[in-house]
Formats: sequence, C-alpha cells, structure tokens
Amino acid sequence: MKRMETKILKVSPRYPEVDKLKIAAQIIKRGGTAAFPTETVYGLGANGLNPAAIKKIFWAKGRPLDNPLILHIAEINELGALVKEVSFQAEKLISKFWPGPITLVFKKSFIVPDEATAGLDTVAIRMPANSIARMLIRLSECPIAAPSANLSGKPSPTKVEHVIADLLGKVDLIIDGGDTPVGVESTVIDVTRTPPMILRPGGITREQLEEVLGEIRVDQMLDLKNGKPRSPGLKYRHYSPDAQVIVIEGAPKNRVKKIKTLLREKRNQGLKVGVMCVDETLKMYENIPNVLSMGKEKRPETIAPNMYNCLRGFDLKGVDVILVEGISERGMGLAIMNRLRKAAGFNVIKV
Ligand code: AMP
Ligand code: MG
Repeated sequence: MKRMETKILKVSPRYPEVDKLKIAAQIIKRGGTAAFPTETVYGLGANGLNPAAIKKIFWAKGRPLDNPLILHIAEINELGALVKEVSFQAEKLISKFWPGPITLVFKKSFIVPDEATAGLDTVAIRMPANSIARMLIRLSECPIAAPSANLSGKPSPTKVEHVIADLLGKVDLIIDGGDTPVGVESTVIDVTRTPPMILRPGGITREQLEEVLGEIRVDQMLDLKNGKPRSPGLKYRHYSPDAQVIVIEGAPKNRVKKIKTLLREKRNQGLKVGVMCVDETLKMYENIPNVLSMGKEKRPETIAPNMYNCLRGFDLKGVDVILVEGISERGMGLAIMNRLRKAAGFNVIKV
C-alpha cells in the first residue's frame, strides 16, 4: 500500500468533543484506521469484526501476522456476543477491574474473525478506562481491534508524538488526546485455564490479581530468550529503540558502580551513552551527561509513564548505547522489567 494522508485531531481527554469523535467513528465504520489514546498506551484501532480493516493494522505496524490483537469494548453487555463463556473467575476480574488496564483471554465466538486472533480459538478482550477510547468505541458501534500504535518492535507510544513519528502516512487518523497515564500495556490473563494464568504482566499487578482470585499462575516463558510464551506477541524482539540497550540488575549501589564502569568503556570506544536510572540513584551520577531518571523505584507506577519516552528520547539524541537500571519486580515493577529486558534483547547484567 502507498502512503496515505493522515488527519490529526486534537480531542480533550477530560471532555471529549462528540462531533470530533464522530469523524473518527466514521473512519472506523468505513473500514479505516484511527490511533487513539487509552489509559495504558496509544492504540491503533480498526473495526474488529471486519477482516479487511484488521489487515490495515498489520500493514501499518509491520506486525507479524501470527500476533493476535486485543478487541476493545465500551460496555460489559458487548462481551457476550464475542465469547463462548464467561467463567466465575472472569466475572470476578471484570467486576473488579473493568474498565481498566487488564485484558482477558476467552474462547472466541464464531463472529470474531480469524484475522483478529491470528487463527487462535481464543480472543483477547479489554474495556479501556480512557473516556476518548470509550466514546470512540460507542460511536463506532463495533468492537475496536487495537494493538499499540507503534511500529512493530519499537517502544510503545505514550505520547501522540510517538504515534506521529511511527505511523504518519500509514493510518487514516491520529487522535491527540494527551499523554497516557499508566504508560505500560494491559495485563493479559488467560481465564480459560484454572487457575488463570498471566500471559503478559501489565497495568494491573500480580498482587492485585491474587487478592481477587487467590491462586494465579504466571507464564514461565515470559522472560526466556528462546522460550515460546503463550501470548504470541511476546516472542518477538519488542519495545526496542535503535540504540543498543543493556539492563543492569542488582542492589542500587552495585548497579550504579557497574554502569559507571561500562560508561567509561563505551565512551573510550567513541560511543555516545545514555543512562536511565531512578530518583533514588540520580544523585550518584553527578556531573555525568545524558542521565535521566525514570521515576521512583519505590513507586514503580511513577516509572511506567516515562520508560518508553526515555528510550525514544535517547534515540532522538543519537545515543548509541542506553544503560538502564533494573528495578525490583514488586507491583508494576514486574511489567516494567518484562519490557526493559525485552527492549534489551535480554542483554542483562546481574551484579
Ligand atoms: P499489543 O496490542 O501490542 O498490546 O499486543 C497484544 C498482546 O495480546 C500481544 O502480546 C498478544 O500476543 C496478546 N494476545 C492477543 N490475543 C491473544 C490470545 N487470544 N491469546 C493470548 N495472547 C493474546
Ligand atoms: Mg505492542
């Protein structure tokens, strides 16, 4: 397909203007593509029941065809038509966490096209909490299939600039609805199994899920370099900037010491280096250029909204190597470390 004209539409995240979203809904109804904000990251949407429209998403992102999409709905009563059954465990999760950053994997009904699920007999469904996203789905009168609105393999978009950089000329519309507050993708949980299994850690934490469900499992293939995770998307190199990424994990003091050693080595090789640290360690890098804090390690939910922007920002600065401090996997730290290790292509140093 050739480059197309992409409209950019600014919409208020607090008080979304219906007239503007009607324009976006028309595009979706006619089989086009529109990027829109959700509370996790920006999504690239198309009519989730229209195979030709879904194919445009894969084309625009350069997404491998065996990586299924998430269907987004606006109301609980839209779920029944898309799935075979809703288990008791699923009901508990829905009543506690929807709308919100968690995606449930169900057995799919016959109306869900194979293009959306990459041929699987299961379908991933989420009800986003962002008001632009909800109103857009309602006005489009169909479930919206939407992966993250980035080029496949790149860091996910948490700002409209990220979407524009990746998708201008490849989609019909980009809605500018401000920064996405959660900053990391939804948790994907398979509720066709007992106990349910986390296939991708995300915006709802393992601890929050355990509180509601008691026992849950976490896909052990998640962080294995050569493993085959049950969430097909996770087997690809992902979330990666152009620069090489190295993650350094361990106690804060040891991490900083190792990073300083690596910094000297890389700079001696003539490479431009960036460092992503945390508020707690920032002062240990005094007088070193290109050091950014992602947020507080103690509160990983402050790190998530900055992580992808830091990775993309260093690419814009022409950095060759990004050294990233690994953090504790408590709470949202599990999702953050999953993304950072993948961004690094599993180039992880433990100290
Ligand atoms: P993204 O849209 O970039 O957030 O990617 C969607 C994620 O959901 C990918 O990791 C997919 O592999 C995962 N996913 C979508 N549908 C399914 C499914 N039916 N079973 C397991 N994982 C799924
Ligand atoms: Mg993605």
